[in-house]
Amino acid sequence: TIYLDHQATTPADPAVVEAMSFAATHCFANPSSPHAAGIRAFREVERARGAVARLIGAARSEIYFTSGATEGNNLAIKGVVTPGEHRHVVTTAVEHKSVLDSCRSLRAAGHEVTVLPVDGEGRVSARQVAAALRPDTALVSVMLANNELSTIQPVAEIGAVTRAAGVPLHCDATQGVGSLPVDVRALGVDLLTFSGHKIYGPKGVGVLYVSNGLSDRAPLAPLLHGGGQERGLRAGTVNTAAVIGLGAAVGVLAAGREEESARLAGLRERFLATLAELVPYTLNSGTGPGFLPHAVNLSFEGTDAQQLLLEVTDIAVSTGSACNSSAQEPSHVLTAAGLAPERIRGSIRVGFGRFTTEEDAVRAARALAAGVSGPAARTAA
Ligand code: PLP
Repeated sequence: TIYLDHQATTPADPAVVEAMSFAATHCFANPSSPHAAGIRAFREVERARGAVARLIGAARSEIYFTSGATEGNNLAIKGVVTPGEHRHVVTTAVEHKSVLDSCRSLRAAGHEVTVLPVDGEGRVSARQVAAALRPDTALVSVMLANNELSTIQPVAEIGAVTRAAGVPLHCDATQGVGSLPVDVRALGVDLLTFSGHKIYGPKGVGVLYVSNGLSDRAPLAPLLHGGGQERGLRAGTVNTAAVIGLGAAVGVLAAGREEESARLAGLRERFLATLAELVPYTLNSGTGPGFLPHAVNLSFEGTDAQQLLLEVTDIAVSTGSACNSSAQEPSHVLTAAGLAPERIRGSIRVGFGRFTTEEDAVRAARALAAGVSGPAARTAA
């Protein structure tokens, strides 16, 4: 199988597997234990925390390990918006469900939520955010890059707006951190989340960045209560091997991100050029600087993409978002960007990754084109 679904998850880098194996064998002690073995595990966890902090331009004391971006998003949103005088949240229509549903739960608890619409590329503007702010706005949450359309949001511009207004800004950077430079100060964010498994690290581990400025002004309320790990914000024994694996993933990423992003953009170009020779398609996402370099969303009109992917068994791509387990409904992201239902029905998302070769890109284009030309993929007239 040619795996081209790197937005859903990535395979672990060999360096990650090695680090986790080392950790499982030599750092099994509880990093909170005061004996030598515990101290050794603690040191390795702190080394990983340092690597994560350097990756995003944060201080080590601003990094909290979680079980993934879903938990990080829940913790950021529900942790900031506790009952009180601030009762309004601003987000966008194209966020991941873990953000949208966290906001929905706040709404059910009596808070107000403004969900900003997006343009045809899936983008919001800083001006929209500025217009939505109110005196009682407690949080703005905008993702760095979209998991379906690859749209990069103008987070630094939004950060300038929220800074000026004194409103905390949360950014779900899960899809962006693997291919874009991320600097929390340049972005002007107070909270930022991502997951290990989208950057060739392990599943079940993630990062929540909380600026020290925010912690001092308005400490987050934890979701889990217990042993007080992660400075009281995330109780539960630290997942040492996964955290150490994440540290290794961050090391590999930091060493080669720029060249790798350029290589992946080249593979995407090759894939699209090969496909264009064989079958007509429409691009739903852009391929310019406002979009992630390694991914593309496109539609074969008149084709049922779900059916197509069942037939083209030797490549792994997806329709819409795999993070959404019951993907029967049309994608909320493509719908928000104004795509017609027929175009959404024929849409697929292709994401190239670290182990994809040029031959894979060409073979995948040929396999998809053959599938589209096959009878069963076509919509019955
Ligand atoms: N946010 C975005 C933008 C995502 O693409 C995903 C993907 O799953 C998540 C959050 C959730 O990450 P996880 O499943 O690792 O919690």
